[in-house]
Amino acid sequence: MGLAEIKARVVSEAERVGRAPESVTLIAVSKVQPNERVASVLEEGHRVFGENKVQEAAGKWPAFKEQYEGVELHLIGPLQTNKARQAMELFDVIHTVDRPKLAKTIARLAEELGQCPRLFIQVNTGEEPQKAGVLPADADAFIKECRDWGLVIEGLMCIPPAEEEPSLHFALLKKIAHRNGLEGLSMGMSGDFETAIAQGATHVRVGSAIFGERDYS
Ligand SMILES: *Cc1c(COP(=O)(O)O)cnc(C)c1O
Repeated sequence: MGLAEIKARVVSEAERVGRAPESVTLIAVSKVQPNERVASVLEEGHRVFGENKVQEAAGKWPAFKEQYEGVELHLIGPLQTNKARQAMELFDVIHTVDRPKLAKTIARLAEELGQCPRLFIQVNTGEEPQKAGVLPADADAFIKECRDWGLVIEGLMCIPPAEEEPSLHFALLKKIAHRNGLEGLSMGMSGDFETAIAQGATHVRVGSAIFGERDYS
């Protein structure tokens, strides 16, 4: 696979379901990948990337951002409140707002910094105890709370349970988003991004299908 093929598949799936291809943003998830692979995707002209750890992103992206203009960086992993300031300075979009303490911290820092990344709320659609995200039953209230604190929420994000049919989770996420007036849907990874596009994803997060398998050794 690789960037060109995944971009082509995003476009053809969008067209197949009658959506404008530009309505789907492809986030190239570069976590754990060696810098040469990331550089080659940048050389191909791609500018939208995702990382799941603040520390790792802080180690590699400032240099890439100096070298390549127009990089847009998305945080797709859990965020600890004590790293919120660093995350807000480094990332353009945070997909993992998932609890009141974090939302309040972001709201306070946004005032202090005079800027705020675009924000998605993570919903734990599978209600998995080990997974981050607000429970579906609590989502409406949490979205309202975030808005009361002055945060502008762009959309919702989910990571379906590995063994389950993802489309049920994508449909649930979309339902919660729409009843709350939210347009953004961050859903779909290497194995299911086409399903997600068919269900309305505005942001797909694709790692291994673009870069190759991650080597954690
Ligand atoms: C790693 C990761 C991805 C990308 O996973 P692939 O299966 O490699 O495409 C997408 N979303 C999140 C939240 C991730 O942590």
